[in-house]
Amino acid sequence: MPNAIPNTIIPYDTLFEKYFIYFRDCLQSMKALVKTEKGVGAELIDVPKPEIGPNDVLVKVKTASICGTDLHIYFWDEWAQKRIHPPRTFGHELAGTVVEIGSDVTTVKIGDFVSAETHIVCGKCYQCSNGNAHVCKDIKILGVDVDGAFAEYVKIPETNAWKTSSEIPAQIASVQEPLGNAVHTVLSEPVSGKSVLVLGCGPIGLMAVSVAKCCGAYPVIAADINGYRLDIAKKMGADLTIDASKEDVLNEVMNATGGLGVDVSLEMAGSKTTIGESFKAVKPAGRVSMLGIALEPMEIDVSEDIVFKGLRIYGITGRRMFETWHTLKSLLESGRLDLSPLLTHEFRLDEYENAFALARSGKCGKVILKVSE
Ligand code: ZN
Repeated sequence: MPNAIPNTIIPYDTLFEKYFIYFRDCLQSMKALVKTEKGVGAELIDVPKPEIGPNDVLVKVKTASICGTDLHIYFWDEWAQKRIHPPRTFGHELAGTVVEIGSDVTTVKIGDFVSAETHIVCGKCYQCSNGNAHVCKDIKILGVDVDGAFAEYVKIPETNAWKTSSEIPAQIASVQEPLGNAVHTVLSEPVSGKSVLVLGCGPIGLMAVSVAKCCGAYPVIAADINGYRLDIAKKMGADLTIDASKEDVLNEVMNATGGLGVDVSLEMAGSKTTIGESFKAVKPAGRVSMLGIALEPMEIDVSEDIVFKGLRIYGITGRRMFETWHTLKSLLESGRLDLSPLLTHEFRLDEYENAFALARSGKCGKVILKVSE
């Protein structure tokens, strides 16, 4: 049955206005994954499109990847309860195209393919003015302190846009930020010809395996309790993997290094066990770089495990701005750094519930959200 012809005729100008408002709202609103309330979960809702300031750029997001931080926010753990103030659009690892630039923007243009440094820094404090912006005292984090990238559009300062070759696939481009963490951790000193132990094979640990291998480390040893991720570690170039749920990590490391221990130990898990092992497994005068975040204070035998061993210890936070980014750009563009084994799953943004459940399960590498074509 065809619809009955309405017996009232809507005046043309009213109809026009109605559609005008509809299209205007469509243009100014966007879909975003928002932490709307305190508690587990998030909602995909319509929110206003961000308005940019003179020094900002607006990015149309193509892909965004799920980070451990996003899991904390989604599943609303203790850290998130203290740090996040809903409503907040979260997500910070992204790749997309610049669609709008502020009036004072000079280094980025419309159409540029970009990813983002997610630490928004003041540029004025003592650290910022001494080449240490990664530990800026007024740091704000995209998707944590300001609205983030699980959205059709995200606003970032011009200085945070990282122009990326259009040859790099969007899935890889969006994981450059965590790749930067891996590069910063691995290369806090050179690794060429050094033995390297990676403790913890989450996505950043797996990237660290690949970076160490690519930069000439040997052997690269990866340890974790997750068999799925140890398989990825092998594909990413680990010379030896240790299943810490079945094997004694220190025994295996000593066997593999002629009883000497490794030159470099990378702590990428943040557990008491792995932090302890990171100091025990490294040889005297070796180096420990620590990225994993311990949830509580812990005891260390400082005299035996640090002082008398003459260790060098680095705390790693974020990426050096922007030395780390230049290094990872070279590594990616060289074609020698293959991250493809890590990119195991991709979901549309509206499939976020499945994506977060999978990311939490650990039966995956990096989980990517496809936000737009
Ligand atoms: Zn600062």
